[in-house]
Amino acid sequence: RNAGGSGDTICAVATPVGEGGIGIIRISGPETLLIASRFIRIRSGIPLRTIESHRLYLADIWQADASQTETSLRFETPIDEALVVYMKAPRSYTAEDVLEIHAHGSQAGLAMISESCLQAGCRLAMPGEFTKRAFLNGRLDLSQAEGVLATIKATSEQGLAIAQRHLRGDLKQEVDQLRSRLLAMLAHLEAGIDFVEEDIEFVGRDELKKVLRETTDTIDAALSSSRTGRVLREGARVVIVGRPNVGKSSLLNRLLGESRAIVTDTPGTTRDLIEETVHFDGATLSLVDTAGLRETIDAIEREGIRRTEEAVRDADLLIIVIDATDLAQAATIFNTPLLDRGNMVVALNKIDLLTPGQIADLSSHFSLPGGGVPLPISTVTGEGLKALREVIKDSVGLRSLEPSQSVTITNIRHQEILLRCRDYLAKALESIESGTHPECVAVDLRGAADTLGEITGVITSDEVLHRIFSQFCIGK
Ligand code: GDP
Ligand code: ZN
Repeated sequence: RNAGGSGDTICAVATPVGEGGIGIIRISGPETLLIASRFIRIRSGIPLRTIESHRLYLADIWQADASQTETSLRFETPIDEALVVYMKAPRSYTAEDVLEIHAHGSQAGLAMISESCLQAGCRLAMPGEFTKRAFLNGRLDLSQAEGVLATIKATSEQGLAIAQRHLRGDLKQEVDQLRSRLLAMLAHLEAGIDFVEEDIEFVGRDELKKVLRETTDTIDAALSSSRTGRVLREGARVVIVGRPNVGKSSLLNRLLGESRAIVTDTPGTTRDLIEETVHFDGATLSLVDTAGLRETIDAIEREGIRRTEEAVRDADLLIIVIDATDLAQAATIFNTPLLDRGNMVVALNKIDLLTPGQIADLSSHFSLPGGGVPLPISTVTGEGLKALREVIKDSVGLRSLEPSQSVTITNIRHQEILLRCRDYLAKALESIESGTHPECVAVDLRGAADTLGEITGVITSDEVLHRIFSQFCIGK
């Protein structure tokens, strides 16, 4: 495969927009050295086209126009001094000739150097085009290219660790393995179809079933890791619920460390869901403050409650806030069928209003549905909030997300592919069980193998490639 067939030479600023110590411009393509020689002069005086691969050279960058050649460089307008490094194909990121200019990170300077590149014969790179070329040239598979993207976009240590494993090819390896097993089965099956009488059971039926089941199990295991992926992408959804005026908004503000939600003495103020993102030790939490759970005839408030119910259903963790000075009404909240679920923590708020004796008594008055212990807190004094944070981290945070030994699916595209593949496998198994003609089994087996191939990109379309690489920034 070659680089998109165009074979032109592209350039882009690879470092972020803004002032920086260093700014890097990257050139890639067959004409890299020729183009660079039109506006770059090596300080030691050697011709640019003779520089060694993978070595840094001090150089002067000049303004170029299209008419210039290395020998006719008019050294009139210097832009910057820089370090340049040439990486000869195929030992480069794109597997093409690449040259990087490490200049000072001034926006004006980088813009002028880019302009020189263009004048000297480059085309401006599209978003992700360097990585796309790496893919088209076989340097990376699609899952690794997506690992590059996830690495750049990682906002947490866990996200980075998983992205790195994808970048290094652990997903590719796993997928290749599954796929080649399916293809081997397919080959047996097709040989069988050609040579065996229709009413004779085709060869390796039991083994085929075994492979299909094992592949399904592996895919299920990978899919079960996708909650981790969603939490890494979007943060765990922690939803705060409780009756009006128990201190939900105050708690949200405490957890955020600032005043964002409106705190009032009038019950039922929070009609819209307030959603804020916080970072705890590298984990992202999306905290949702809800309208109070209660019966109401007010239409606007009813809408708020409907949204609350929705948020509760989608939550990774519920924090149920109870007013510790009003335990009589507290018990009723557990009659709400919505809250009849696993992952929740109960916070008894306003303990600053209680005597130490009353606080000691609290837990004896309380038996939680799941058998857990309620946490006494005060959003006024801050008591108990540290313990609450620990509980939150334990149930949805990093500790529950330690990257496991198996591959972790973090990408929605991969998740969707695995679900489709599992459907094919299920259909194939069904056909075998019901004694359908081997040809039908072969069709589904082929479907499963091809679907898996979409993860690594052995099977792909321009549209898919476009969707993936357009998420990259220009210069990567
Ligand atoms: P929400 O309706 O559940 O969101 O409750 P708010 O956060 O708006 O608080 C309702 C009232 O309770 C406000 O007057 C708060 O100042 C008060 N409040 C909240 N938390 C505490 C607490 O820990 N101790 C005391 N004494 N008052 C609190
Ligand atoms: Zn509120």
